[in-house]
Amino acid sequence: MVEELMDKRLLAGLSLMSAFSLRQLDPNLINQIVANISLTQYLTLLITGSVLLDWLKCAGWKDKIPFYLIKCEKHGYQLSYPSGYGMKLFCPKCVE
Ligand SMILES: [Zn+2]
Repeated sequence: MVEELMDKRLLAGLSLMSAFSLRQLDPNLINQIVANISLTQYLTLLITGSVLLDWLKCAGWKDKIPFYLIKCEKHGYQLSYPSGYGMKLFCPKCVE
């Protein structure tokens, strides 16, 4: 069974953002996303530190990229996507 992905309306707004504005995301939006993930997603987040939200296409990007919800020890919940060597998930505020 395919895991039900979260409310598309919440994520729709994100696809309009550029990657550079991820660190300036409205904390309320992140809280809303956290409140809307499934229990399975929440458990995955607790256990692994990150969970896939959905594949989204950002403004100016050619392809869809996978967006993850991560928990940074310093900045709390943040959105991120795989980047750099090994396609790691970095907290957008820590790499600032
Ligand atoms: Zn951080």
